[in-house]
Amino acid sequence: FNMLEKNKMDNLIDEDEMKGVKYPLVEDFYTIQGEGAHSGRPAYFIRTAGCDVNCWWCDVKESWDEEKHSKKSVADIVQGAKDSGAKFAVITGGEPLLHDLGPLTYQLKQAGMDVHIETSGSSPVSGYLDWITLSPKRFKEPTDDIFRYVDELKVVVLTNKDLEWAEKNAAKCPDSTQLLLQPEWEKEGAVELIIDYVKSNPEWGISLQTHKFMGVE
Ligand code: SF4
Repeated sequence: FNMLEKNKMDNLIDEDEMKGVKYPLVEDFYTIQGEGAHSGRPAYFIRTAGCDVNCWWCDVKESWDEEKHSKKSVADIVQGAKDSGAKFAVITGGEPLLHDLGPLTYQLKQAGMDVHIETSGSSPVSGYLDWITLSPKRFKEPTDDIFRYVDELKVVVLTNKDLEWAEKNAAKCPDSTQLLLQPEWEKEGAVELIIDYVKSNPEWGISLQTHKFMGVE
């Protein structure tokens, strides 16, 4: 795995200090990754609190205010992930890159997990990450930095404007990036719009929120 340039790990003296670092968490739990390139795989989800992007259609608005959530140590989060039997962890939010993910991701890697992140890319990248899913939002655009690392571009689509936004971001991604369009669950017509689009632009695929069909979180 790569150590990203923005990592602040150098400030941490030893493993104990690292394990004691706390993150504000909305929840952490074992479930099925329902979206994107790794859809269908069991995963330990770590949902950090805090987001400054303010998407009006956000379905996790309760995550926005960091102060409303309690903090959990790296040691406790990693123990929960290990106990679950998960082989990979997905760090999501909120906006996880509001936090320095170095200590948490380092310890998850030490526990033998693949570590994935889902981010809007609106804050600098940190952490030891095996897979970066960038889900860019027009409300606070991604930093240029993240486009060097992105593995998967997943753009939420409500209208034609979002397709333009998707292409603008895809143009900045490495050639190997998986390109996915994901219809907003409650927006009528979004699925049809995407189906027509990917048929004419086959470099794109479709991501569905399959966990909503399965009735899992
Ligand atoms: Fe919600 Fe994600 Fe947008 Fe933040 S970036 S407001 S968590 S959808």
